[in-house]
Amino acid sequence: MSNLLESIIRPEILALSAYHVPPAKGMIKLDAMENPYTLPLILREEISQLAEDAHINRYPDPGAASLKVALKDTLSIPSEMAIMLGNGSDEIIQIIALATAKPGAVLMGVDPGFAMFRIIATFCGMSYVGVPLATDFSLDLDAMLAAISQHQPAVIFLAYPNNPSGNLFDAEAICRIIEATPGIVIVDEAYHAFADATFMDILTQYPNLLLMRTLSKLGLAGLRLGLLVGRPEWLAQLEKLRLPYNVGIMTQLLVERVLQHYDILLEQAASIKAERTILRARLATMGSIEVFPSDANFVLFRLNEAGRIFQELQQHGILIKNLDGTHPLLKDCLRVTVGTSDENTQFCKTLRRILERPLLLA
Ligand SMILES: *Cc1c(COP(=O)(O)O)cnc(C)c1O
Repeated sequence: MSNLLESIIRPEILALSAYHVPPAKGMIKLDAMENPYTLPLILREEISQLAEDAHINRYPDPGAASLKVALKDTLSIPSEMAIMLGNGSDEIIQIIALATAKPGAVLMGVDPGFAMFRIIATFCGMSYVGVPLATDFSLDLDAMLAAISQHQPAVIFLAYPNNPSGNLFDAEAICRIIEATPGIVIVDEAYHAFADATFMDILTQYPNLLLMRTLSKLGLAGLRLGLLVGRPEWLAQLEKLRLPYNVGIMTQLLVERVLQHYDILLEQAASIKAERTILRARLATMGSIEVFPSDANFVLFRLNEAGRIFQELQQHGILIKNLDGTHPLLKDCLRVTVGTSDENTQFCKTLRRILERPLLLA
């Protein structure tokens, strides 16, 4: 069997480890940057009505025209820009990689960065180059410019704010990168709702700049909708790779309806930002924890024995993300998603108890 696998499956796939999602049943789930709040009952009732009336025996509108109009209005997308929709922005990353994967083509990101950039580049047959960030997780512009000149990347992905560090990179530095690279730059604004900065207004200034957003972190992770905003010329090429019915009818209908109540999502994002401030402050008082700044809906922090603490939290029913061992800059780092006030309190209490308990030497 293993000989057969190895003769059929591409070597870069054999070498890849699958994106791991740990089981979370019954846990306080603070690992995946989900919005912890539900929608108001009245909106959920509207949604059930939409589900009841939906023509699920028919294929969805392949161009999702009506939803795109709603997105353009709600997200203040410049009128001269086009939109491409994906089954989550992960699918958009894949479409971009498929379109640009000429032999030897390079997809560049920063390390530590969003893991899917490397995984998707690899399975689409591109070389992934991750340029190390500075120790404070800021962009190392000189290193980026040197790597661009050396590798001539077809595509650069920059998450703004960055995951897993949570910070916004210097916008000026990103502009220098856009100007210096021979290829395209995708600014990935997955965490836009929790930051006060965007490249949306800058889009028209650069012919090689595209902007990606997702509704996942804003509260609709289960519906899977990501979008790419850019010049029609670029999107017309990428559209050729998008499978015709990648965004299902329920997603189209429900997202369009929720967008009519976008203020609710923004209020929830505002609550998450307020909770983020409280959470960071609490972590900072726990002595021996280094808390990093965040413009996203999660907080990165460093403490001794991160691996053990992560496991003990898990044993106490709290799931966060252990980043220790994934990159040298993330040594002893954990990442916690901002949850509800109760969830955050529970997390902080449990963490404090674990930290204060005298170590029993076995
Ligand atoms: C979560 C995340 C995405 C993917 O979101 P989708 O759910 O696939 O839309 C993309 N980029 C970054 C940086 C993320 O953290």
